[in-house]
Amino acid sequence: MVGKLLARDFTLVDEPAQADVIIVNTCSFIQPATEESIETVLEMAKFKEAGSCSRLVVTGCMVQRYGASLVDELPEVDHFLGTGDYHRIDDVLAARAGEAPKSFIDAPLYIHDEMAPRVNSWARHSAYLKISEGCNHRCTFCIIPQLRGKLRSRSIESLATEALRLVSQGVRELNIISQDSTAYGRDLYGQPKLAELLRALARIDGLDWLRLHYAYPIGLPDDLLETIAQEPKVLPYLDMPLQHASGNMLRAMKRGVTREGQERILERLRKAVPDIAIRSTFIVGFPGETEADFEELMSFVREQRFTRLGVFTYYQEEGTPAAELPDQVDEDVKLDRQKRLMALQSDISLKMHKGLVGQVLPVMLDGKSKESELLLVGRLPSQAPDVDGQVYISSAPVGVRAGQILPCRITQASAYDLVGEIVEA
Ligand code: SF4
Repeated sequence: MVGKLLARDFTLVDEPAQADVIIVNTCSFIQPATEESIETVLEMAKFKEAGSCSRLVVTGCMVQRYGASLVDELPEVDHFLGTGDYHRIDDVLAARAGEAPKSFIDAPLYIHDEMAPRVNSWARHSAYLKISEGCNHRCTFCIIPQLRGKLRSRSIESLATEALRLVSQGVRELNIISQDSTAYGRDLYGQPKLAELLRALARIDGLDWLRLHYAYPIGLPDDLLETIAQEPKVLPYLDMPLQHASGNMLRAMKRGVTREGQERILERLRKAVPDIAIRSTFIVGFPGETEADFEELMSFVREQRFTRLGVFTYYQEEGTPAAELPDQVDEDVKLDRQKRLMALQSDISLKMHKGLVGQVLPVMLDGKSKESELLLVGRLPSQAPDVDGQVYISSAPVGVRAGQILPCRITQASAYDLVGEIVEA
């Protein structure tokens, strides 16, 4: 949306009070996200009331989910665009007030291509690359397929062109995202093409790191594992949400995989790429989860020793099959299980991090730390932006820049972050 608007001579401002047009891009994955989205819309509506803002636009998943009912409920909003209509933002705003339709909420079929102008809203040296949109799975706790539609992959050529452009603007790390990366290409080519895509991206000069997120645990082909193992630019890193380990829970979640199946996949991965960092996420307190199911998850995490782990408490989300299941788990039990699993992971992570002290590892510099202007921060290949912690750099030669990959001796470890010093190459 930003890319399209800048191409039509709009400019970005830092504060909503300075904006003539305010766009609120919403989430609606669970009810608290919807509530937060509505609060933000109402907060932004105050700028319209005060007269500094002339048009208020709401886009994204909340619009897709609640559609036309929002038009009545939020009369202060000028336009609503669903998840398949965000590309209309420039036309909507270029039209005179009152001339563009109030809402576009069609079935989510659109996916952008390399022709869509793009502004990298994160650091200059790192970017996300969205390879597909939508998901053909039907996990019983998840509303995403209803909001984002079926799998729609972009072509390898389109993605390579976008990646090349990003690299020419200074990007050195691409973080591959989607709702289901494992399935990439199935709709377009009749078979998964993730390995081929990674090889095409790895041929781009100037690109150093390719990191893979959101791999579904079923259908990881051998050629993908070989590509991760053999292609130096593809980091030994895989983000693979597993959600649970107990057979009862995996069945109730309709994940289509058993604990043994997950163990086989993890074994194949570690055999093919021995130093791979595996990130996963789990849900605790899913309906019917007994203490025995939870203990099975704990033992799975204890055995598997994931490099990174996120733990969510289950949310009974209206409109999902799991919300109708009996034996919903009490909130305090969910929170207790989340705490116990995180404590276990914290011990595992601290031990792993302590094992890194003294080692010299490549670190991509991200720039100054948020906590102190004087401190630099960077990330190891095993640390994805935003979610995996970082390395605080206690000493570095003068003149180093964000985006450089430098050898760093790890000097201190905690469960989440590390401290290190840049050493001479
Ligand atoms: S694979 Fe992910 S996006 Fe798709 S239904 Fe399951 S949880 Fe939702």
